[in-house]
Amino acid sequence: MKQYDKLIFELSKSGRRGYSLPQSSHTEYSLEELPSFARRSEEPLLPEVSEFDVVRHFTNLSNKNFGLDTGFYPLGSCTMKYNPKINEDMSNLEGFTAIHPLQPAESMQGALELYYNLQRSLAELTGLSEFTLNPFAGAHGELTGLMVMRQYHAKRGDTRRTRVIVPDSAHGTNPASAAVCGLEIVEVKSTARGTIDVDDLKPLLDDTIAGIMMTNPNTLGIFESEIPEIARLVHEAGGLLYYDGANLNPMLGKCRPGDMGFDIMHINLHKTFSTPHGGGGPGSGPVGVRAGLEAYLPNPHVSKLADGSYTIDEGTDSLGSISGFIGNFGVMVKAYTYILSLGKENVKNVGPMASLNANYIKEQLKDCYELPISGVCKHEFVFDGLKDKSTGVTTLDVAKRLLDYGYHAPTIYFPLLFHQAIMIEPTETESKETLDEFIEVMRKVAKEATEDPDTVKTAPHTTLVGRLDETTAARKPILNYRDLIAQ
Ligand SMILES: *Cc1c(COP(=O)(O)O)cnc(C)c1O
Repeated sequence: MKQYDKLIFELSKSGRRGYSLPQSSHTEYSLEELPSFARRSEEPLLPEVSEFDVVRHFTNLSNKNFGLDTGFYPLGSCTMKYNPKINEDMSNLEGFTAIHPLQPAESMQGALELYYNLQRSLAELTGLSEFTLNPFAGAHGELTGLMVMRQYHAKRGDTRRTRVIVPDSAHGTNPASAAVCGLEIVEVKSTARGTIDVDDLKPLLDDTIAGIMMTNPNTLGIFESEIPEIARLVHEAGGLLYYDGANLNPMLGKCRPGDMGFDIMHINLHKTFSTPHGGGGPGSGPVGVRAGLEAYLPNPHVSKLADGSYTIDEGTDSLGSISGFIGNFGVMVKAYTYILSLGKENVKNVGPMASLNANYIKEQLKDCYELPISGVCKHEFVFDGLKDKSTGVTTLDVAKRLLDYGYHAPTIYFPLLFHQAIMIEPTETESKETLDEFIEVMRKVAKEATEDPDTVKTAPHTTLVGRLDETTAARKPILNYRDLIAQ
């Protein structure tokens, strides 16, 4: 192993220092003034290393990381796309970073104006009446939206509606959010085309149904063509329509959930509007509602007054507060920057270009990978493993082998409808050359799977660590050096 591939603690040499600091000027405080519970009883375990050691160690480590700036990232359903650097510059402006949420509204009018404009931009892009930007993630937005749904029924005195319909193709967060909201989940099946089976839906609709959660395009990348009929049926039964707009990119500027008949929706700013995400954050899952439901949105809310100034207010019919203050502001600055830099005309190109790229890859690979749902897809699509399954090479093996060729793996084993799901989403910002190179590598892996299956089954071979025991890594993670040496 090369020196700088080691753990930083393994580079440690007693007494070695990477800094020189002047004597502390805070000599008037003595340690004894700290209560004993706040004082260390032993020296902290820290690596003792030189400046070179630190810089080289972390620079080498960062080079082993895979990111959008390193290569193509075909992860489906979790759109990691173009994240323009200008977004970072804007969100780092001091006027945004140096404010405090408890400041009086008069002293942060610029930030509130951006916040208000983003609320309005999202309403315009989705055809809905009003947005809250408070939720911290997509799942948090789902929970908030379902709470709006519950509040709507409760305010009408309709307390029997405790069940929500969720398609079998839904993202796992849909049923999870419904359960957290205290709703019972009723599953509706998909047809062979991958869309909601209206005949299966009809008998489910009665006066215990609070609403239906739909994703469009759904998690198979297919446009739900029966929406007008579904909207009519659900509304007639007294329920509301919820739209999971985590990945709204294929729809942007082309069609709007509000026009399709949806009542409530969430958007993931950290997918559709270009904030880099992963590893848990940062995120933002704004929730929008149609006219008539605005009053139920969470507190607090940013509004514009008649004199043109902005205020943070609270409504009395609101479902209450679902987050600290008004949400993840930095993410909003990035989303707003992205929307403004795209502009009204270019926003219409996002969906068609993303769909073109996805269909291009799908058509070039469908002779070596199993395509369970043919026809035109939107921004993503799903293979059900290799076409030739005779050598026992699985989707996991294919994903691991891609790492050897310098690609991030696509989403695998999701959605759950297919046993060997490989979900590919190229996004609209990749060039034809990048797609061609990826196609070539995918074809190469398929060929290897037939001719030299062991190489694929034991991949990856070129990464620093090979195949991990993912269960143990998740259940018994070793997150610091002390735990490692204690092993
Ligand atoms: C990512 C995603 C979610 C959940 O979003 P989080 O921010 O990860 O909570 C919900 N639905 C769909 C379709 C998604 O792709």
